Amino acid sequence: MNKNVVACKVVSIILAFFVSLASYAQAQSNITDIRISPNNENTRIVIDVSQQTAYSFFTLQSPERLVVDFKNTNREFNFKTVDNTSNLIKKMRHSRPKLATDMRMVIELNKEVNSELFSLEPSADFGHRIVIDLKDPNPIAVATNKAAPKRDKDIVIVIDAGHGGVDPGSIGPQGTYEKNITLSISKMLEKRINDEPGLRAVMTRTGDYYISPNDRPDFATKESADLLVSIHADAYSSPQPRGGSVWVLSKGRADSELGRLLERTERNSELLGSAANVIGDRDTERYFAETIFNMSMDLSRASSYDVSNKVIKEMKKVTRMHKKTPQSASFAVLTAPETPSILVEVGFISNPQEEKNLNWRAYRQQLADSLFKSIKLFFRNAPPEGTLWSIERDNQPKQHKVKSGESLSLLAKRYNVDLDRLREANGIKGDLVRIGQVLTIPAY
Ligand SMILES: [Zn+2]
Repeated sequence: MNKNVVACKVVSIILAFFVSLASYAQAQSNITDIRISPNNENTRIVIDVSQQTAYSFFTLQSPERLVVDFKNTNREFNFKTVDNTSNLIKKMRHSRPKLATDMRMVIELNKEVNSELFSLEPSADFGHRIVIDLKDPNPIAVATNKAAPKRDKDIVIVIDAGHGGVDPGSIGPQGTYEKNITLSISKMLEKRINDEPGLRAVMTRTGDYYISPNDRPDFATKESADLLVSIHADAYSSPQPRGGSVWVLSKGRADSELGRLLERTERNSELLGSAANVIGDRDTERYFAETIFNMSMDLSRASSYDVSNKVIKEMKKVTRMHKKTPQSASFAVLTAPETPSILVEVGFISNPQEEKNLNWRAYRQQLADSLFKSIKLFFRNAPPEGTLWSIERDNQPKQHKVKSGESLSLLAKRYNVDLDRLREANGIKGDLVRIGQVLTIPAY
């Protein structure tokens, strides 16, 4: 459920505030996340709930099912967001509960299992949780190497190759099509991202076909993406202008998008989740939805601006920049309300030298690498909550005492930090460290 972590956070802040105001109103519990971790014959299901939640369960046969009723819980959880790799679980879904205020979850099973349910007290590391352990009484012998290491949630980056199909974009003096350059760089960036554990790329297009600019931000919304990067090449009527630039959505366009979204009133309660049940009247609901949406849009724009600065800093090492600060404009592709979005002009295809450069594979690779480096830095700095990278950061020791046989490059690799950053954090010039030396491990 990394869908708009920011908005969720704001919702929970406002919810907490509201509940404390109207403490007599009993707030409904909310399921915030479900994770399934299969491990040979056992499968563990961890359910994050917003508050202490009572539950009861029973089993049904032919077909095998485990039915869990959560007391006083809303039914907004979307089971499609759960990643299921367990061979015991066929499907998870909602069903009509006995009490209108409860939520009933049905786990359709592939075979008869022994199930055990318990709840965990919240700790410093996590909130309220309900755990379900499913045990296979007759496990089929499976190859042990089948249990792949469990990856927690990836950071999702939507890569949007500008133009495509009947829309070639700009055309260079030598006849180079922008749509081909943008697709090539996008694919290079996709590869770098997917090679990095914890990051996942989603392409808006993977070939030469047309997608309307208005449909492109939907990819980000559907994927609950953490970032959208749209790749373009600039053009001008004269051949002189050259260099790259990075664009974010203008405040004016963001505001009008906000208005348009709020018109769809059912979104208010969707956005507010369980808070809507407490608020209970439409005007107040709209007011809160507006406040939350505003905050979430502002935060998205702030993140877009932040990542843009990082992109400019890296791109500068590869190409000259036409604009040295992030620019803002009203681009349709940047309007996904809950995803930080940037548009990168990699250079002017109308400039003969830059057209030549863009036709050079190694140069495109350098551009893709600079985008990758800055995106990686951005997320290492501020990994979205609940992702593998945020867990890594939280678990990472801040200091390391050098033991015999350890070198700086070995430690950089082990902690997955940049060697230069490790040097910088410790004021070390070369590679020499001494046994017993205490090093500071930077967060990225
Ligand atoms: Zn373009």
